[in-house]
Amino acid sequence: MKTFNVPIIYRSPLITAIKNRRKQQDRMKKDFSPTLLDFGTLKIMLARHFGFCYGVENAIDIAFRTVDENPGKRIFLLSEMIHNPHVNDDLLEKGVQFIMDTSGNQLVPWEALQPDDIVIIPAFGTTLEIEARLSALGISPLQYNTTCPFVEKVWNRAEQIGQKAYTVVVHGKPGHEETRATFSHSRHTTPTVVVKDMAEAQLLGEFISGKRPAAEFAELFKGQYSPGFNVETDLQRVGVVNQTTMLATETQAIADYIRGVILEKYQHEANAGERFADTRDTLCYATNDNQSAVTGMLQVPADLAIVVGGYNSSNTSHLVELCEEKMPTFFISSDEKLLSANEIRHWDFHHKQELHSFSFLPDQDVVTIMLTSGASCPDALVEGVIRKLLSFYGLEHKADELAESWK
Ligand code: SF4
Repeated sequence: MKTFNVPIIYRSPLITAIKNRRKQQDRMKKDFSPTLLDFGTLKIMLARHFGFCYGVENAIDIAFRTVDENPGKRIFLLSEMIHNPHVNDDLLEKGVQFIMDTSGNQLVPWEALQPDDIVIIPAFGTTLEIEARLSALGISPLQYNTTCPFVEKVWNRAEQIGQKAYTVVVHGKPGHEETRATFSHSRHTTPTVVVKDMAEAQLLGEFISGKRPAAEFAELFKGQYSPGFNVETDLQRVGVVNQTTMLATETQAIADYIRGVILEKYQHEANAGERFADTRDTLCYATNDNQSAVTGMLQVPADLAIVVGGYNSSNTSHLVELCEEKMPTFFISSDEKLLSANEIRHWDFHHKQELHSFSFLPDQDVVTIMLTSGASCPDALVEGVIRKLLSFYGLEHKADELAESWK
């Protein structure tokens, strides 16, 4: 796979060495068991796959290179480039400005932009409407485009099935930048509707089967369907694509469910299966790997899990969701949230609040901790967490020994 020029401050020689060794031992990526870092009284189970994905490294490479190569120019990012506060803060410090926040609220008015300004499209991509707006301002929207190729693959697939008269169902968070972009691209080709979870998919299923009156659709899916969407005619042939960072198992379950509803409704037709488009090939490799690695990690007994990543990172919250099913889980943005061996600040993504908890480390002879991070989290932050945990057990010196042993 292509390699990128990512600032050294985001790298961790220790984590790189561990990842490289695991990669050499398992080139086909079949082994999802965690890496055991055994310090005696503290055992850390490091997920097989975690951290920066292809799309994030690509975006960071382009953004930092653009800053370096264009001194004196005004450089804007449409919104947060990736959902990691450390990376975004570093770009802000270099003078980059964000035009919108992650919810789409305007921070810099469009009228303030000039034709010779640089506007970087983030890894999530953007809407066709925003591309058109930039073009109208004399700014090429595709010159500094960091849209991940795996997101573009979803757009292409949506377009392909749209051209075959399938309606596209997007499994994603309606307000997320990537889902807004995918919705925008898809709706220009075909009727499109967004479902955020299985509950909404089941609601949509009731419209597909005709169990729920079409008149209720507009209210129940307000803001989530393309203009002119016709419940009577636009839910007869369907394909499901996703926001690439959703839980892959949930997307698959939603696709299977909708396929089942369609097959039941059209069971009298010999070719009923053709009413559902197979889009399994659009699931992002990094989301699959990171989620499978957590599932693999959770096969091993442990006392707690720590997941590192930006609090607004969708893919990170799904890793947390998986861990929470098995054990106490703490979602932190960096080692700074590990206040002491007794205190931790951590994000409750269900209620969108940071909690301050005590006694998070069990008082026992040997403690085993699962550790992973999201696709937008620098490995340096994960190493920081390992070092901080070691310090709580008086084992600081072990970090460098560990790095040596993995060389
Ligand atoms: S998670 Fe997947 S789709 Fe999203 S930026 Fe990373 S590689 Fe691209």
